[in-house]
Amino acid sequence: MCEEIFNRLSKSKFRSKFKLRGKELEYYKTRGHNEILNHARDFITSRLAPADIPNDGKQTPFKNHPVFVAQHATATCCRGCLEKWHGIKKGEELSQDEVDYVVNVIEKWLANQVSNS
Ligand SMILES: [Zn+2]
Repeated sequence: MCEEIFNRLSKSKFRSKFKLRGKELEYYKTRGHNEILNHARDFITSRLAPADIPNDGKQTPFKNHPVFVAQHATATCCRGCLEKWHGIKKGEELSQDEVDYVVNVIEKWLANQVSNS
């Protein structure tokens, strides 16, 4: 599943502008991969999974956490992008499988960034 989406993302100027570096990279290294993924799961569950998100499109900051950067890079930042890029319909609560999928995409992007830095 991931190959195809990463291929499409790499062709987007906007998405490929996001890199893990500076403060966010430091934070990632200090906390470690597993803890960062726990944060990812928390963010996705609270900010992306609900059926109705009043500030959808604005709920993900552009910096200050490696997961936020990853979300913009992978178009998992809001339900609008999730629908457009990943074909996950908005207006419905994310299933457990969909949450796992999103966390997986974020994990893959982070792992890629770290191996390239
Ligand atoms: Zn978005």
